[in-house]
Amino acid sequence: SLVDRPAEHGSLPLNKVDWPAIRRDFPLLAQKPYNKPLAYLDNAATTQKPNSVIDSIAHFYRFDNANVHRGIYQLSERATATFEAARDKIQCFLNARLREEIIFVRGATEAINLVAQSYARPRFKSGDEILISAIEHHSNIVPWQMVCKQTGAQLKVIPINDNGEIMLDSYQALLSEKTKIVAITHLSNALGSIAPVQRMITMAHARGIPVLLDGAQAAPHLRINLQALDCEFYTFSSHKIYGPTGVGVLYGKKSYLDAMEPYQGGGEMISRVSFESSDYNGLPYKFEAGTPNIAGVVGLAAALDYINTIGLDNICQREQQLLDYATKALEQTAGLRIIGQAKHKASIISFVLDSAHPHDISTILDQQGVAIRAGHHCAMPVMTRFNVPATARASFSFYNNESDIEQLVQSLRLVNKIFT
Ligand code: PLP
Repeated sequence: SLVDRPAEHGSLPLNKVDWPAIRRDFPLLAQKPYNKPLAYLDNAATTQKPNSVIDSIAHFYRFDNANVHRGIYQLSERATATFEAARDKIQCFLNARLREEIIFVRGATEAINLVAQSYARPRFKSGDEILISAIEHHSNIVPWQMVCKQTGAQLKVIPINDNGEIMLDSYQALLSEKTKIVAITHLSNALGSIAPVQRMITMAHARGIPVLLDGAQAAPHLRINLQALDCEFYTFSSHKIYGPTGVGVLYGKKSYLDAMEPYQGGGEMISRVSFESSDYNGLPYKFEAGTPNIAGVVGLAAALDYINTIGLDNICQREQQLLDYATKALEQTAGLRIIGQAKHKASIISFVLDSAHPHDISTILDQQGVAIRAGHHCAMPVMTRFNVPATARASFSFYNNESDIEQLVQSLRLVNKIFT
């Protein structure tokens, strides 16, 4: 178990990591679409799963499946123990102070909606302000717009510069006694920019304002230390960090979660029910109504175990190598412009080509075995900011390699040839 081990256990120096062997842990990557090697470069949308994650889910259903927290029989107790051990692993992975601060949800989207509805909605009123940034995913825009509609609060947006970086001077100027929460992405899915979250949290806390970080993209690429960050809320999705879909995590500081009403009602989240009234369960169960995604949680725990065998520091360094290699290679492609050149950036590159629309790029790349994303990346305001209808986006995981990037660049040359 990771619980009683340091997170770096099992990691090797970067030059000793067997990256080709790691790639072979991901069975899907051996596919040959159109008889070409698969270059899967859409990791910001979702990641592929290693055998250990796939096997852990199959093992759970074969041997350990029962509902949790309910049965007084061995199988149910085993399922509960496995499920709760996963919570401990996540607490350790995020370096959260308490296990009951880890709430299982469906994903980052549900986590943000939970905070919007259970924290913000009952507390905010007309004249209050919610501060987000110009690089947010729709999941960290729309739930706040809904709260604004429900309460009369106003949404304020911190601008970004031409490199896709949050402008701290403007942030400082926007913070006021009206600001009731700051909700920002830790890492932009559309541009790859890493937000200066530590400074932003300190600046918000200087005015007593709580901060939510959307860590959907950060969790797979950066080491997260919640006790050092000291944010009030943090969210991420399992499927973007090599775990299964349909499960994610909301971290909330205990004092905040304790003060919030439940998001949904049902089984698990109560301690006593009568027709007149009900008493709610304590944390974390107060926010986990209904049967949770038990197998999903088991798979997520296996994914974190897998990541820890490589070591997050090795993952960060390898992905930076791939980012540098790809940036240089793409910059040499005729008519290509990279959108978002933040100084602090993760392995996500958005770009446009003079010769073709991103959808055409993606279609031709697909036939060459290259899977990238084309569109607005659920961040339409980012497209508006850079005055483009859409971008093509290549996002790299540690299991990608230089050959994938060469395949991408060769395929882009083909696009140029077809369209010019
Ligand atoms: N936030 C960011 C920055 C994202 O990239 C995503 C997914 O693309 C989300 C939130 C939403 O994640 P999910 O769809 O898993 O809830």
